[in-house]
Amino acid sequence: MTATATLEFSVTTSKNRRSDEERARILANPGFGVNFSDHMVGIDWSLERGWYNARVQPYGPLSLDPACSVLHYAQEIFEGLKAYRHADGSVWAFRPQANAARMQRSAERLALPPLPEAEFLESIRQLILVDKAWVPTAPETSLYLRPFTIASERFLGVRAAQHASYYVIGSPAGAYFPKGVAPVSIWVSEHYTRAGRGGTGAAKCGGNYSASLLPQQEAYKQGCSQVLFLDAVHGTYLEELGGMNLFLVRKDGSLLTPSLTGSILEGVTRDSLIQLAKDQGRVVEERQITLEEVQAGMNNGEISEAFACGTAAVITPICSIKGKDFVAGRDDAPAGELTMSLRKALTDIQYGRAADPHGWMMKL
Ligand code: PMP
Repeated sequence: MTATATLEFSVTTSKNRRSDEERARILANPGFGVNFSDHMVGIDWSLERGWYNARVQPYGPLSLDPACSVLHYAQEIFEGLKAYRHADGSVWAFRPQANAARMQRSAERLALPPLPEAEFLESIRQLILVDKAWVPTAPETSLYLRPFTIASERFLGVRAAQHASYYVIGSPAGAYFPKGVAPVSIWVSEHYTRAGRGGTGAAKCGGNYSASLLPQQEAYKQGCSQVLFLDAVHGTYLEELGGMNLFLVRKDGSLLTPSLTGSILEGVTRDSLIQLAKDQGRVVEERQITLEEVQAGMNNGEISEAFACGTAAVITPICSIKGKDFVAGRDDAPAGELTMSLRKALTDIQYGRAADPHGWMMKL
């Protein structure tokens, strides 16, 4: 049972709504993260009042005092989830309660106010109520939802802000692999790490991502599409990619993924795939995995497939993992069979093409 939201949302509709033709033109080729729906949701918070002023408002620029601590000390958290269009026209979110819970954990770590689950779910429902037409209908498309909370107090002192603002914006997203799923090469960052022990690695906060941009650029330079981070203490254990979790498949069909050590983001996709694989009777091992083990395994066939997972691309097959002095796998390796079948199993649930045995989908 989910609690009911206690905040009343006021609704101010946009005077500049895009025409049906303009929206159809955008939805025909939405890309990712470049187009936004007509409205957004906002909720304010202050230490004295708690959460207040819940509203749906026209999408548009924020007005922030230049002294807000989000602009100086990166006191910010966010989430990422999708609204999926089903064949009957209805719109659904995938495990939004998991995103609500993760956002609460992120809030705690960043000393921001946690938004109750009921208000989080209602904020998404409210956005879809006004902008349902922005959920595209083509296969493998969705409306990407980006909830975020920022410290909006005007104060330059270094302490937790006493005013914060939560928003949700929606961005139509095209099929991640319009020409078919393409395996990618991954670059191991041996110099830079993403998160240290006791740091913010398990939180979804903006600072983690700004710190990953330089190693991500390094990966591009090496002809790879994502960076793989190692643990900061030993520099030997796999952690995760810049924006995805990692899985390995052994030749016996069992799965292996780095355990949640406190410095890895607990992906909703990761957790869902572990469940789906277990439903199929597969062994899923969550433990520390060394780079050496992956290199040997991918090159001697013990590890037969590798993939990355996250909300944006669901599952991205990995053909090779490269570092300064090594290559594991082959650039021309095709996507693995189990990789692709797990991808299909999960997307079938998300798009309503298969039964939802775990009750993961929430109608919006
Ligand atoms: N790790 C990182 C660093 C991420 O940014 C993401 C994307 N949110 C993930 C893993 C995957 O998480 P999820 O499956 O919840 O999208």
